[in-house]
Amino acid sequence: MSIGKILLYYCFTPIEDPAAVMLWQRTLCESLGLKGRILISPHGINGTVGGDMAACKRYVRATREYPGFKKMEFKWSDGSAADFPRLSVKVREEIVAFGAPGELKVDENGVVGGGVHLKPEEVNQLVADRGGEVVFFDGRNAMEAEIGKFKGAVVPDVRTTHDFIRELESGKYDWMKDKPVVSYCTGGIRCEILSALMLNRGFKEVYQIDGGIVRYGEKYGNDGLWEGSMYVFDKRMHHEFGQGVTDPGFIQLGHCVHCQAATNTFHNCINEDTCRQQVLICDECAQHVATQHCGRPDCAEVAAALVAP
Ligand SMILES: [Zn+2]
Ligand SMILES: [Zn+2]
Repeated sequence: MSIGKILLYYCFTPIEDPAAVMLWQRTLCESLGLKGRILISPHGINGTVGGDMAACKRYVRATREYPGFKKMEFKWSDGSAADFPRLSVKVREEIVAFGAPGELKVDENGVVGGGVHLKPEEVNQLVADRGGEVVFFDGRNAMEAEIGKFKGAVVPDVRTTHDFIRELESGKYDWMKDKPVVSYCTGGIRCEILSALMLNRGFKEVYQIDGGIVRYGEKYGNDGLWEGSMYVFDKRMHHEFGQGVTDPGFIQLGHCVHCQAATNTFHNCINEDTCRQQVLICDECAQHVATQHCGRPDCAEVAAALVAP
């Protein structure tokens, strides 16, 4: 029985011929039996692939042979090719869709003009030194922050990363332009870009966390500045640090959209035809069709119609 693994990785580096890299990566993954999703743009690569341990090792070795990817870090986690429906390797204008491909500048060292990278302990040091002046700025979709965020963090009103530029230029956050701002996201990739967009728009002191919430949570669990669960983009949908929900330091931030009970479980709205919303629904309400909707009146109607004979 072979052991399966999942690799998560990204790298910002100039790619002269993204189509050639795409074809090479697709052939490589196919030959190794890997499945998952890889995006390639003129600014770099972003991937999640799963397969046998030996195949993953070979993939890492081969991928690092490309000069721009030589120093790329791979994060290993448990899983396998079976965690993905297929292999998808695509060229895109952006590896994270901020809608700003022309603004992003990269060189061999990564993003040019991004925020200062902080290790988890340096984040705590910054807060210890500068206290209440420090602002945490959530670089994820607002929904993700419903179940967990840094203590006191500002959560911008974004449904997708496409909304960030509009938010940053709205004037809503001008009060923090002279303050130390720590941007953060799940694994760090979104803030590589977001922090540069902020600096370009007059935010003077912008930081980003090395390895994102994942690395911070691994280091401090529920005993640091992080509160609650971390949203994850797979079947689990949430992840807790330390000893999980039974950890004495764990705080449940999420609440059921119907009854306000504490929960960290997202569900897809039952009105799947016209609603793509994922909402927090407690275990009790999730058992009844009548409350398997997101709360929008038309979705509530769809649910009600399914209950009535
Ligand atoms: Zn409920
Ligand atoms: Zn809905």
